[in-house]
Amino acid sequence: MRLVLFGPPGAGKGTQAKYLATHYGLAHLSTGDMFRAAIKEGTPVGKEAKSFMDAGKLVPDTVVCGIAGEGIEKAGLDQFILDGFPRTIPQAEWLDAFLAESQADNYVVISLKVDTELIVERLSNRRMNKITGEIYHLTYNPPPIDLPAEVLLHRSDDQPEAIRERLAVYEADTAPLEAYFKGKNRLKEVNGVGEIEEIFDRIKAMLG
Ligand code: AMP
Repeated sequence: MRLVLFGPPGAGKGTQAKYLATHYGLAHLSTGDMFRAAIKEGTPVGKEAKSFMDAGKLVPDTVVCGIAGEGIEKAGLDQFILDGFPRTIPQAEWLDAFLAESQADNYVVISLKVDTELIVERLSNRRMNKITGEIYHLTYNPPPIDLPAEVLLHRSDDQPEAIRERLAVYEADTAPLEAYFKGKNRLKEVNGVGEIEEIFDRIKAMLG
């Protein structure tokens, strides 16, 4: 099974990708997580990505495709879920060409539909466990009470100014991908509003 989770920042891609990866036994490939790990390790890719990420901008396509390709190859070109990649038309074209080389370009794109107002609310209340990568919402999915405050991260790109920039970038560079995927008959739309389990059930039902 090859899946791509598509949607604006804050649509719940990371949360649903984790659930789907566990349920279907897929490698969870999040380019955002890969960059955050690279920044932590201080690698050249991490150093290059950091300034773009902090500003809410997209990391250049060549860097992203390189890191995504490594992840897909490690997963054996099969049994993976891409979370946050591709995010531009050139990235999608690169992915199609990369997978087609191995006759592996039959993937399904799950598009999570969520209104912009809800996205801003979700992102500004989002917190992440620095150690495990677990994602929380301060109201709807609160972190455990005994979790030390210093372990909880309010991502620098989840601050109001960066959120606005990320949404503008999404509209300009990523939203046009919907038409691209539709044209290739890959796009499956799922309502991304509701309880986490409820959205997960919708995706499973859609996948059949
Ligand atoms: P995410 O965790 O998916 O929200 O990604 C966090 C940040 O990493 C994004 O705002 C971008 O700066 C960068 N990033 C992750 N994936 C991509 C991608 N496919 N293309 C460009 N930049 C990306």
